[in-house]
Formats: sequence, structure tokens, C-alpha cells
Amino acid sequence: MDALLVSQQENCRYLSGFTGSSGCLLISHSHALLATDFRYIEQAKEEAPDYEITQVKGDLSDWLPRLVSDLGWRKLGFEANHVSFATHHKLSEAIEAKQLDLELIPTASLVERLRSIKEPEELVLIGKAIELTDAAFEYAKSAIHPNITEMEAAWEIESFLRQGGSEGIPFEIIVASGSNSALPHAKPSGRTIQSGEPVLIDMGARINGYCSDFSRTLCLGKPDKNLLGIYDIVLKAQLAAIGGIESGMNAPQADALARSVIEKSGYGDAFGHSLGHGVGLEVHEYPALSSNSSDLLLDGMVFTIEPGIYMAGWGGVRIEDMVILEKGKVKVLTKSEKKLTEH
Ligand code: ZN
Repeated sequence: MDALLVSQQENCRYLSGFTGSSGCLLISHSHALLATDFRYIEQAKEEAPDYEITQVKGDLSDWLPRLVSDLGWRKLGFEANHVSFATHHKLSEAIEAKQLDLELIPTASLVERLRSIKEPEELVLIGKAIELTDAAFEYAKSAIHPNITEMEAAWEIESFLRQGGSEGIPFEIIVASGSNSALPHAKPSGRTIQSGEPVLIDMGARINGYCSDFSRTLCLGKPDKNLLGIYDIVLKAQLAAIGGIESGMNAPQADALARSVIEKSGYGDAFGHSLGHGVGLEVHEYPALSSNSSDLLLDGMVFTIEPGIYMAGWGGVRIEDMVILEKGKVKVLTKSEKKLTEH
């Protein structure tokens, strides 16, 4: 490649500092360009002082081929996971129509891999986001009582997060009770939370762009034997991953540490998602801790460890912490307690 077109928003922000929602970077050995439209020019100058700001108008295919050719670049890398088929098609057509000597080269995860190893100042922001979700869980335990609905509980948590400084919320908060908790990504409903059933809470905060991700399962009143048993298996699986993951492991090895505990207990089919994912500027980012991922876990990576067991008609349990790999080992960043809370 002679240059790389960076169009994914968080990648642009990571490399340049530009937080606008429309714009892209063009990076070569000798150039660092930030192309954006009229609405963002002043903001771009302020946020990305290391970049040469270029004001552009219209579609990518209207201005990019000519600009790139004028700079003498013939092989332009693009982020294949983020450039749509339609955009690629339009770009190719424009290059052909203008008879330019320009080749588009697909790339994957180049900036995402850089982003996965966190810098100290990123860790400060992630730490603040984690602190806020820990505090929100403390608040949720006091705010959630029998007869509150899932939607009301989710709003209580959301307003706590917003008042605590979260920039919006990185994803829709999940409060799922009873049989609803069997859906790993349930939507809070008008269902009234009852005593004795699992209540699955999944939430995140965002501070200066950086996210946290957090899940706990709690129970109002006395949990029955079934819930206690399943909770115990999920917790053992989570602790096995926390204790066993090491730098240099690949994602399937990490995933297997927790999955084998759940499989041995006979609930293998009930853990239908992956063990975790990287967290940073995006709530789900590189690496993917799943059995079919080839990602390698390295020191400085921040990710979640979140095994779960879900059974249709009954409910589900998930326990999710954020962790960092440090000196080869897992350090847990989430502070909230993990015993099945009784109220
Ligand atoms: Zn998660």
C-alpha cells in the first residue's frame, strides 16, 4: 500500500483525536490528512493538530480518487470491515470513469489491533467508566425491589449513569427477570420483577469516549436451589478463566477455560455465546474471545470475561467483569461483589 484510508469512526478518533461523526483519514509515509466537510472543519483543526485538514464535499467517490491520484498514490488500502459494498462499488466506478491508475487494497483490523493494547491515559478513562458502573450496581441493588418493572429498573440505572457523567450509554441497558433472563440480550419489558427469580443486569458507561461493560445476576428474596446451583457453575467458570488466562494464549484457549467448567456440569449447550470481547472506544472491539477467533491475547489488552447459562422458560445467569492482561496475568478491574445478592 502507498496509503491507508481510515474511515471507521473510532479508528479515526484513536489515530487523530478527531471526534466528529463524519470524516476520514488518509495516511502514508509522508502524509497525514484528515478529510471532512464544512460542518467539522473548525473542530478538526482543534482536535487533530497533527493532521493536515482537507475540506471535502459530497460523496467519497466524488473527491477521493482524484485527491489520491494527485498525491501520486497507486495502491490505497481501505478498511474492508467498514467500507460498504455500495461505497466500494461507487469508488471503483469513479476510478474507472476517470481512468486513474489506482488500486483499492482490502485490509482488516490494522488500527483495531493497535487500539487493543491500551495506553496509560486510556486506562484512566476506562477505569472511570468501570467505577461508574460499579457505583450504578450498588445503586441498582437498593433501587430494585419486588413490583418494580424491568423498564423502570433500567431507567433508574440509566439516569444514575447519566448523572454520574456517562456520555449517553454505550448500549441499551438490560434488566431481564425470570424467564426473560434466558435471553442473553433481552429488552427490558413491562414485566414486574418477582422475589426468588434471577434478575440479569447488563450495563455500561462511557467517559471521554471510553466504555465499560458490566453484568451481574441478582435475586430479590431467597434464590431457590436451582438458581443457586446454576449461579455457582457460572461463577466457577468465570473464576477459572480469570485464574487461567495468560498473555500469549489464543482466544479459543481462553474461551475453553470457562466453557469446560460449564460443559462438565452438563450445561454446555446453555452457554451459547463467546467468553468475552475487547472494550475501549467501542464496547465490543478487538480481540474476540470466542472459540472460532484467531485473536491472540497480549499484555495491555482490556476485555470482558462473561460466561453465562441460559435456559428457555426458566431464566439465565451471567457474570461479567472487565479485566486487563498485565505481566502475563489477568487483573480484574471490576470491583462489584459476585455473590448472588440476597435482599
Ligand atoms: Zn459484554
